[in-house]
Parts: sequence; C-alpha cells; structure tokens
Amino acid sequence: MATINREKYEAVIGLEIHTHLLTKSKMFCGCSTEFGGEPNDHTCPICTAMPGALPVLNQHVIEIAVRAGIAAHCEVAPYSIFDRKSYFYPDLPKGYQISQYETPVCKGGYIDVPSDKNGEPLRVRLVRIHLEEDAGKNIHEGNHSLVDLNRSGVPLLEIVSEPDIRSGAEAAAYVQEMRAILRYIDASDGRMEEGSLRCDCNVSVRPRGQKEFGVKTEIKNLNSFRFVEKAIEYEIDRQIDIIESGGKVTQETHLWDPVREVTRPMRSKEYANDYRYFPEPDLPPLIVPPDLVEAIRGEMPELPADRRARYVKDFGLTPYEAGVLTAEREISAYFEATLPGLKNRKTAANWVMTEVLRIVHESGKSLAEAAPAAIEVGALLRMVEESKISLNAAKTSFAAMVKSGKSAEATVAELGLAQVSDEGAIASAIDKILATETEKVNEYRAGRDKLFGFFVGQAMKAMGGKANPKVINDLLRKKLAG
Ligand code: ADP
Ligand code: ZN
Ligand code: MG
Repeated sequence: MATINREKYEAVIGLEIHTHLLTKSKMFCGCSTEFGGEPNDHTCPICTAMPGALPVLNQHVIEIAVRAGIAAHCEVAPYSIFDRKSYFYPDLPKGYQISQYETPVCKGGYIDVPSDKNGEPLRVRLVRIHLEEDAGKNIHEGNHSLVDLNRSGVPLLEIVSEPDIRSGAEAAAYVQEMRAILRYIDASDGRMEEGSLRCDCNVSVRPRGQKEFGVKTEIKNLNSFRFVEKAIEYEIDRQIDIIESGGKVTQETHLWDPVREVTRPMRSKEYANDYRYFPEPDLPPLIVPPDLVEAIRGEMPELPADRRARYVKDFGLTPYEAGVLTAEREISAYFEATLPGLKNRKTAANWVMTEVLRIVHESGKSLAEAAPAAIEVGALLRMVEESKISLNAAKTSFAAMVKSGKSAEATVAELGLAQVSDEGAIASAIDKILATETEKVNEYRAGRDKLFGFFVGQAMKAMGGKANPKVINDLLRKKLAG
C-alpha cells in the first residue's frame, strides 16, 4: 500500500461485542457452561436439538441482561420475544440460533469511554443489547471434521454500538471500558483470549465534512484490544487506498490475520433476510416487570466510571491513576484495602501501581497469589508515614514480604530496618560529631552553608543509616545555630 493520506478522510466505526455470560448453566437447559471439558460432555437433548426437546429460559440470564442494560443507561424492554435465526452449519444442530431480532431486551443507552480528547470522555451510544445462544464448535483434523457441542446453548449478550467511534484507538478504549463494566457487574469474565468476549468491528470511511456514511466492511471475531486497534487501522488505510485509486469499497465480511497483520475477505456480506428470522414458537414472550428492574437497580455495584470519579474527587488521584487502579475490580479492592489509617492516598496509589503491579506482572500470577496482603502493605505505608521507616526500607521490606508472606511489622523488625526517631540517641551522636569536627563547625558558622550536608551524612553514618532524616535535620539546625 502506498502512503495513505488520512487528512481527507474520516473513519466511522460501530462495534458489536459478544460476550458469554457468567451463568452456571446454559441458556435453555441445565448443562454446565464451564470452559473446556471433554468434547460433548456438557450436552443434553435440548442443546443437541433432539426432536421434541423444549427450551426453558434460565432466569439468571435475564438478571444479567437487565444489569447490563442499567449499567449502559439503556431502556429495558418490559416485553420482548425470542426469534429463530436460521442458517446451516454443522455446529448448529437445530439449524437455527435462538436470538432476538425486532425486540431486543435493551434499547438505546450509552457508555462514556475515557479518552485523551481534552479530558472529555467519548460518549458511545448503543443501538441495542440482545440475548442469543452460542453455537458449537467445528474442529478440523486432517481429512475429517469433528463437532463439539459443549458451547452450544451457552448464553451470549450482544451489544451493538452506534457508529460513534472514529479510530482504532477509540474502538479499543470502548471495548476496554465495556469489558470492565461487564466484569464489574458479574455479567462476563471478559476472558478475550478464551473467546468469552469477542468483537466484530464495522468500518467505513467518508470524505471529511460529508454527512452520509460510506460503505462498511465488518471485521469478525477480534479477541484482543490490540487486534481491534490494529485491524481497524489497517482497514481504514485499505479503504482510503481503494477510494483514492478510483475504486469502490464493497460491503463484505473480513477476518483479521494477526500474523501478516492484514484483513482478508471471508465472504460477501449476508443480510438480515438471509436468516429468515421469525418468532420462536417454543418460548413464551420475555416479560421483565418494572419492579424487577428497580430491584436489580438497587443492587447494582459501583461502576468503573463512578469509581474513577470518586478516586479523583476523594483521593486526589489523576484520571490516569484512577483508570489504572479501577481497570480491574481486584486491583481497586486491593488498593482500597491498603487505605485504612493512611493519610496520603496518593502514596498508596503509587505503591500499588508500581511495586504491587510490577510483581504481579513479573510473576505472571494473579494479584492475590503474587502480592502480600493489602492490609500489610497498608501497615508498611503507615510506618513510612509515621517516620518509623524510610521509603527505601519500605521497599526492602516489601520485597522480603513478597517472598516470606510475613507481616510488615515482623519483617521490619527482622531486617532491623526500624528508623530511629529517638531524639536523645540522635542528639548524642550529633554532639559527638560537632565536638570532633570543630573546624568545620566554625566554617559553617562563618557562612559555608554547603557543609550542612556533610554533618547530615556524618550523623546518618553514626546512626548506621537508620536515623529519621527529619530529626537529624532539625537537631543539626538547632545545634549548629549555636
Ligand atoms: P447490518 O445490517 O449490516 O448488520 P447494522 O445497521 O445492524 O448493520 O449495524 C451493525 C453495526 O455496524 C453497528 O454497530 C453499527 O453502528 C455499525 N454501522 C452501521 N453502518 C455503518 C457504517 N456505514 N460504517 C461503520 N459502521 C457502521
Ligand atoms: Zn444441554
Ligand atoms: Mg446487524
């Protein structure tokens, strides 16, 4: 591809996020939704489509859909129906997926995505959120193919955005925020690498200033933030290139090739009427009474956006720091558990973001496995705040605590890192120094201010490096003043 002139064009992007729901059993039967397992272990006559087997809707699925709708400011439909989406594929034994077409369970809504546009969040509006069952999986080996129906009938939520996104980076930020919300409300585990959250990206470009959208292509099944960003950026360039060379973008479905980092056409676009949607006769309409919605609203957890705002307002953190600490519920719970008794929230925030997250990344383990208990980290930081240990001593102790799992107090004592703040001990050390270094004392008093550092160094040395530097400074100033 030649160098692409991005200036003349604007990209328009809308996303469809699919996520498996955190239910124990499938959408219409009692089979387990657990990931993995022996092929076809988690199946029954319903999810393998035996003749005469009838679906029964899992109540938990509705609760999750309502939580998602509330979190994304949607209108939760009091009445919706399920439809059959028909197509033929060996991993779809019924020959149709039970989905929702004309009447999704949630309509409209939006989420605000943190962005670096003058600190203003990017508001991405939603078209709808609907429920759908997953299909099975085909496995191709040599000259034969196998079908695993463990995933068949696992509940999915499909979240469709309006085309409010303008770049690959914005799209990745949107997926990241939606994933965080879905994890906060216990809708999804968000494990993109396992495919439990995937995303289809619809991309078009138009000359800047033009109102009408261009023809879009859809990139299917992206399962990481990085792929979302890269695939979209590639696709924007590809479409501009076609238009600039006098061609026309054709509406089609693409796949992202993460190795070659290009999108490849998979099939020409299918249209809604190809699926012959019609109401599912085996299920009654889905009625969601308003008092159920209100009851669920009353039990909603704090959402990432509210938590970020609280961290900025109450703890004086920057939006960036608040973003890092709230990205995962586990991290923010850890951070908050370090706080009791601490005056400076910022120190704890920095400590969690640097020391704690570093060992998590380095170890490749979870926060709970890799890091000392949050209470102990809080205790360590309190000792710094109360001048009982230096910041360096805290770092040394922390490293030891990671290995030993011992308490902050025991570790500091064991390593002999407690800082001496006892004025008597420090004063007598200083007196000794001033008595031997009489010449330097005179020079200092005659105006050689720089010698102050020398005295601090000597006093610290005499105290074996463990004296509280503030006490040394204060006492030296007093004594040198004569
Ligand atoms: P389709 O009928 O092709 O499935 P929809 O209107 O249902 O298209 O939209 C699917 C997704 O594509 C939505 O997220 C929507 O925001 C997005 N979308 C629609 N038109 C465009 C466009 N011209 N460019 C980019 N995205 C678009
Ligand atoms: Zn089943
Ligand atoms: Mg569509």
